[in-house]
Formats: sequence, structure tokens, C-alpha cells
Amino acid sequence: MKKLLILSGKGGTGKTTAAAALIDFLKARAFADCDVDAPNLHLVAGLTGTPRTSEYYGSQKARIDPEKCTGCGACFDHCRFQAIEKNDNVYRVNEYACEGCGVCAYVCPTQAVELVDDVSGIQMLYTGKRVFSTAQLKMGRGNSGKLVSEVKAALNDHAPETDVAVIDGSPGIGCPVIASVTGVDLVLIVSEPSLSGISDLKRIAATARILNVPVAVCVNKFDLYEKNTEAIETWCEEEGIPFVGRIPYDHCASEAINEGHSLAATGCPAALALRNVLNEVLELLEVPECA
Ligand code: SF4
Ligand code: SF4
Repeated sequence: MKKLLILSGKGGTGKTTAAAALIDFLKARAFADCDVDAPNLHLVAGLTGTPRTSEYYGSQKARIDPEKCTGCGACFDHCRFQAIEKNDNVYRVNEYACEGCGVCAYVCPTQAVELVDDVSGIQMLYTGKRVFSTAQLKMGRGNSGKLVSEVKAALNDHAPETDVAVIDGSPGIGCPVIASVTGVDLVLIVSEPSLSGISDLKRIAATARILNVPVAVCVNKFDLYEKNTEAIETWCEEEGIPFVGRIPYDHCASEAINEGHSLAATGCPAALALRNVLNEVLELLEVPECA
């Protein structure tokens, strides 16, 4: 099973729109949403049924036992994150501010503080003919890279025999993106013809290069500023990066997404362009073209 990861370097480029269309064109039987901070592929993936869910424990948080607490204030004084709150001489931990460093437990003279595993998110797995792995990180929680690795592991463990699995990655170049890139066969970067788009493209390509994963590039809404689209194509040529297509700006794309389905069935110009992008990508992956 070849793994195709879709990235963009930042949000708003049409990455998930492209991923959803490619999944539909491929009739993909294995796919995942690794944008665990803001997953939304499930909204347009045409999934049915109820997913299996499991809790994700990404870190620890402090908890104060009021029975043991004498109200000495040592934890309040020593917490560098101002995560201990005091109200009428009652001390409690603010779960959103606590970093789980353990200093409060160390200084507490009565052993009233313990560090407990924190449910940092929920993993969801749709199984059946199509396997879809996704997750949602809770507000204010970190360790999203670790959760991305769990999402990919669930896909690996449950994916049926298939040629290509499609993974929608997260924006940016941080920890969750690095976790997304690791172990995939190709990264398709969906860029946009803006100066920030070019900058993001270069950063994400450099990240993939460090991780030794090949990349290909397409430009979404290429006709909004063709000069920059040409600059991207030229840069790809200079860098030896396959340029796999231009996708036009198409209001049909936002209409399809707003109606909760992918572009694939619309036959609009953006869908046709994405179809060609997919065929180029499959060639790079050495997988037969879809019909
Ligand atoms: S574990 Fe660290 S961050 Fe959390 S409340 Fe205790 S001292 Fe503050
Ligand atoms: S250090 Fe321990 S005893 Fe003192 S206020 Fe904090 S939890 Fe209570």
C-alpha cells in the first residue's frame, strides 16, 4: 500500500478539497485525516455508520486532593504556569494552564497533588469496506504529533488490501506535519499563487527533503495570479520537483464543499484538473491510473 500525503504549508489553500476529490476519484478504501487540531475531511468524505472511538492520553495534569490539602500555598507559589488557582483558600488546578511539569507535587508537604493521565483527544476509526482514521485534539492540548502517529498507526492496522491510501495532513511545518510525513511514499503539496504560498511551499518542501520523502507540487486557483504560478513551476523545475498540475479557481468547488460532498462528481473545471493531478501522482507512485 502506497501512502500519499496531501500538505499545503498553511491553511486555506484547498488542501482538504483536493484530498476529498482524490479520495473519491480513487474510490479509496483507506484514508485518514491527520489535521487533528481541526479535522474536517469527515464532512465531505461521504461516510456512513458510527466510528469506533477511543480516548487519547497525550500528557499528564496535576490534581489536588482536597482531603489532603492543608492550604499552605506552596504549589501556588512554585507553579511557573500560574496553573494553580486559589479561591477562599481552596486550591485547584486549571487544566488548560497546567503543563504537567510535576513541580507542585514535588513541593507539596502533604502529598496532596498527583499527576494523572489526561484525555487529550478522541480517536475515531470508521471500518468496513472503507477505512477512515481520524482524531480530534481537545482544546488547549499539545502533543498533536503523537496523536497524528496514532491516527496513521490505526490506518495501517486496519486498512484493507489496497493500492493507495490518502492522508490529509495538517497545515504548517510543525510537529504534526513531521509526524504526518514520516513513512509516506509521496507528499503532494497543494500550493497557491501568492507570495506567502511560495514561501510556505519552500518550507514544506525543505521539511520533506530532510525527512527523505519525495514531493510533487500542484497549484490551486492558479489563475488568480499566473505570474506566481509560473514562478512556482520554474522553482520546481530548478529543484527537480515534479510539477503535477494547475487547478483553476472554480466557485463550483466551494459549492460542492458547502453541500458536503467532494468535487469529484461535479465535472467542473477544477475537478477535471484534479483528475489530471491524480494521474500524474499515480504515475510517480508507480500505481496504475484509475479509470
Ligand atoms: S504540574 Fe506544573 S504546571 Fe501543572 S499545576 Fe503543577 S506546577 Fe503547575
Ligand atoms: S502545596 Fe499541597 S497542601 Fe499546599 S496548597 Fe498546594 S496542594 Fe495544598
